[in-house]
Amino acid sequence: SFTLAIVGRPNVGKSTLFNRLVGKRLALVDDQPGVTRDLREGSGRLGPLRFTVIDTAGLEEATDESLPGRMRALTERAVDMADVCLFLIDARVGVTPTDRILGELLRKRAPQVILAANKAEGRKGEQGFYDAYELGLGEPLAISAEHGIGMDDLLRALEPVAERFEDATAIVDVDLDEIDDSVNEEGEGAILPPGRPIQIAVVGRPNAGKSTLVNAILGEDRLLTGPEAGITRDAIAVSVDWDGVPFRIFDTAGMRKKAKVQEKLEKLSVSDGLRAVRFAEVVVVLLDVQIPFESQDLRIADLAEREGRAVVVAVNKWDLEEEKSHKLNELREAFGRLLPQLRGAPMVMVSALTGKGLDRLRAAIVKAHSVWNARISTARLNRWLAGQIADHPPPAPGGRRIRLRYMTQVKTRPPTFVVFCSHPEGVPDDYKRFLVNGLRRDFDMPGTPIRLYLRAGE
Ligand code: GDP
Repeated sequence: SFTLAIVGRPNVGKSTLFNRLVGKRLALVDDQPGVTRDLREGSGRLGPLRFTVIDTAGLEEATDESLPGRMRALTERAVDMADVCLFLIDARVGVTPTDRILGELLRKRAPQVILAANKAEGRKGEQGFYDAYELGLGEPLAISAEHGIGMDDLLRALEPVAERFEDATAIVDVDLDEIDDSVNEEGEGAILPPGRPIQIAVVGRPNAGKSTLVNAILGEDRLLTGPEAGITRDAIAVSVDWDGVPFRIFDTAGMRKKAKVQEKLEKLSVSDGLRAVRFAEVVVVLLDVQIPFESQDLRIADLAEREGRAVVVAVNKWDLEEEKSHKLNELREAFGRLLPQLRGAPMVMVSALTGKGLDRLRAAIVKAHSVWNARISTARLNRWLAGQIADHPPPAPGGRRIRLRYMTQVKTRPPTFVVFCSHPEGVPDDYKRFLVNGLRRDFDMPGTPIRLYLRAGE
């Protein structure tokens, strides 16, 4: 499922729309000032679609003087969490200078924008609706959040988004003809849209050194002391330029505790870890070298894999280790045994305390993120598949040979492939694993889950 951010200046009707989409299904509210009040999140529904909605709620209370900076910051945060932004303007007022500023921001930063002129019921909304074209964000929808008008158009605009983020298991039901190959040939090797930070979460058991690591990345003990030049910190994440690469690091309860926002937030710690994993693109599982692979570590690593996140394992406190090469072998063995589902994920030894190994950690994260986003052209995949079949043909249960006919990548984040074959049910799991491991090796994709589905097809 996907995340929709409702953005727009104050009073365009964001909250009304949020309430319409979410109803009472609010996921997490916290009335502690300055903590999570500024962004609201809920589970939204529209027709058959289910998605997460984020609303920049705090804006409605902003005073005019405080507005521009906060609006930008809040909107940026919402945009960075979203797969698609619904940009509202007020159809009765038309396009204001503030709308133009936000429109510009969205054009630069948002992965996808749907423009809607709200309060479009009746004649008064007409002019504003036509004005909206000038924002250069495509054809606006005319809606009324209050009266429920235009929700069918909104649904139609969201359907293709939902499709892109649908579970791959659902995607395998599409017809071969429907898979748009142009996307495969085009975006090959493309990494991330420029300027979008890599979103990471640092997870691990208490005292693994998460706060120390984040502080080391930030360069100083800034997590404790709040915002300073070059770093913006909010309740859920901190943005930082880590040696030239923009990152957003999602906070976990363990870190907040240190940031002295304790109390109530402690109670959120479990869902908080899950949240961090959900927001993150790359999950850094931080192990303590002296107590590695604790059950808590294994659970969260498994969760990250199941959620389709890229994973990098970092082993912290390496400075304490005396028998380094012996330990390394031990860790590799334990990794393979305890986390077979993370096969291929990089393991980096670090010392958050001394800063050793952080460059390699950063490189591993950047690499994992880029392969998580990778596209491999259908032509290359099919050349590769032919080679695999020649070297190691699929089994022939009962003498009936299974033909693997065609392969294509249907999705990224994580890379997801479909192989069309004569009898998908006859392909054993270990042959599927053989293909997945081969893909990982031959296309160099460490640190990302790889999904592969078989489907009947000529
Ligand atoms: P968190 O609960 O995961 O955030 O862990 P902290 O960052 O608070 O670290 C827990 C303890 O481990 C602190 O006493 C840190 O100083 C210590 N620590 C963290 N990283 C390292 C490291 O790389 N080496 C050593 N020797 N100690 C570390």
